[in-house]
Amino acid sequence: MEPDQKPCNCEEVLAALSDYLNLDLPRESCRQIEEHLAGCPSCVEFAETLRETVRLCRQYKPSELPAPLGEEVKRQLREAYQRVMESRGGSGGH
Ligand SMILES: [Zn+2]
Repeated sequence: MEPDQKPCNCEEVLAALSDYLNLDLPRESCRQIEEHLAGCPSCVEFAETLRETVRLCRQYKPSELPAPLGEEVKRQLREAYQRVMESRGGSGGH
């Protein structure tokens, strides 16, 4: 069975998105993620959700350096992640 036409390492991308949105990834990694987002609507939606979350967090904590994701953000990250996976229709046993 092939749920996706292309081999999509969404899990890795989604996992790295938190760091990506936190500006904690090297440019090369950001580029790979952006390329993946270019062809993966599911991850884009997920990224938008995270981006909004991270942006809101930064508004409350204006600092020179990007602060690490808090527990609450990580929780939302998980929820969004699961949501995306469900929306993809993947019948993963997990
Ligand atoms: Zn993806």
